[in-house]
Amino acid sequence: MIKDKLKELYDIDDESYDIVIKSNEELESKFKKLEQLEFINQIKVLKAFQDNKLQATDFASTTGYGYGDVGRDKCEAIFRDVFKAEDALVRPSIASGTHALSLLMKAVLLPGDKLLYITGLPYDTIQEVIGLQGNAPCNLREYGIDFDYVELKDNDIDIESVINKIDPKVKMVSIQRSTGYSLRNAISIDKIEKAVSIIKQKYPDIIVMVDNCYGEFTEEKEPLEVGCDVIAGSLIKNPGGGIALSGGYIAGKREIIDRVANTLTAPGIGKEVGITFGTTRNTLQGLFLAPKVTTEALKSAILFSHVFKKLGFKTIPDISDKRSDIICAIVLENEERVIEFCRSIQESSVVDSHVVPYPWDMPGYDDKVIMASGSFIDGSSIEISADGPLREPYVAYYQGALTYNQALLACMKVVNNFRRKNLI
Ligand SMILES: *Cc1c(COP(=O)(O)O)cnc(C)c1O
Repeated sequence: MIKDKLKELYDIDDESYDIVIKSNEELESKFKKLEQLEFINQIKVLKAFQDNKLQATDFASTTGYGYGDVGRDKCEAIFRDVFKAEDALVRPSIASGTHALSLLMKAVLLPGDKLLYITGLPYDTIQEVIGLQGNAPCNLREYGIDFDYVELKDNDIDIESVINKIDPKVKMVSIQRSTGYSLRNAISIDKIEKAVSIIKQKYPDIIVMVDNCYGEFTEEKEPLEVGCDVIAGSLIKNPGGGIALSGGYIAGKREIIDRVANTLTAPGIGKEVGITFGTTRNTLQGLFLAPKVTTEALKSAILFSHVFKKLGFKTIPDISDKRSDIICAIVLENEERVIEFCRSIQESSVVDSHVVPYPWDMPGYDDKVIMASGSFIDGSSIEISADGPLREPYVAYYQGALTYNQALLACMKVVNNFRRKNLI
C-alpha cells in the first residue's frame, strides 16, 4: 500500500522503491542501537529541565537591559547541565555557529597568543575568522593572534605532531568534531578523549576547545565529559531540534564563559544583561526535542550511506564506520549527479519544494556551489538539506531531516531521478 501511495503521489518507480525500502529493513539493528542512544540523551536532557525547575512563567519575555531574566538564566543553566559544563551562554544575539566560535576565540586569545587546530584546516567560515582567507576586518590575524594546524593522520588526530607543534605561544588547541566540507570522518568522543588526555598531561594550562557543530547528541557523551574545556555550536543544527529560531551556544569552564560573556556584551556587564526577545520557549522546546530529531537525522544519514554504497558510490563515513556527526558525504563523481541530487532533495523539502536550485558563486568559495534547503527555519541544516561544491571529486553533502520518513521519500526521489536521467 505504501508502494502504491508513493506511485500515486510521487511517481516513484518500483525499482527505486525496492532498493530504498530493502535498505531500510537491513538497517533495523543499527536503528535499534540508535534508539538506545536517543533514550539516554533524552533522559539526560529531561533531567536537566527538571533539576532547574523550569516553569511556565519562565517563558515570559523581558525588556530593556533584561536584568533578572529568569527564563534566560534557566535556559543557560539547562544547557550547562546537559553538556556537563560549569557555565553556558545561550543567546539569540549569537547569530550563528561561526559567531559563537568567533566570540570564543576572541575572548580567549590575546595578541601574541597562538591558536593550534589539530584536526586539519578549520571549516571555511572559521578560516575567515582566523584571517587565513578573505580580508575581513577584525579577524584574529589583525589582532596579532598566530595560527597553526596539524593535519589528520589516518582519519585521527596525529598526537605526536601535535605535541611537537606546541610551543609556549600556544594558548588554545582546537578540535573540529564534524567533517565540515572536508572528506574525512568525524572525530569520535573516544578519539577526542585520547588526544585531550595526552595534551593535558604535558600541558595542563592549554585550553582545549571543540567546534561541536553537528556533533551534539550523536554519542552518549559530549566533549566536556572527556576533558575538553569549552565547546560551541549553532542552535539551527542539532541542539535546536528544528525549533530554535536562531542562536548559538558556548559551554565550558566558568572563567572562559565569563570572558566570552564580557566579549559578547561589554566588560563589566557580562551575562547579566541581554534580553531573549521571547525566544526562550522555542530554544528550550528545541533542546528537549534535540535527541529525537538528531536521531532522525542520524538514521537518515545512515540510509543515504547504505543506499548509495549499494549503488556503487563511496560515502564518508562508510556505513560501517562509527559516527560522531550527522553528515553523509557522497562522492558522486560528476557535476550532473551533484546537481540532480540537490534538486531531488529540494523537491522533497517542506518549504520551497517548487524552487529549483542552481549552482552559484558563493562568497568564500573558488568553485560554484549548489545548495538544497527548504526549511521552516531559514538555512537550518538539522532540517533536510544538501549542498555540493562543483569541483573534483564531486561530493554531495547530505544532512538532516526532522522526520526519518521524509528522508526515506527523499532517498527514493534521488534514486528515481537518477534512474530517469540515466545517471546510474
Ligand atoms: C556549520 C558549521 C560551522 C558554522 O556554523 P554556521 O552556523 O553556519 O555559522 C562551523 N563549523 C562546523 C564544523 C560546522 O558544521
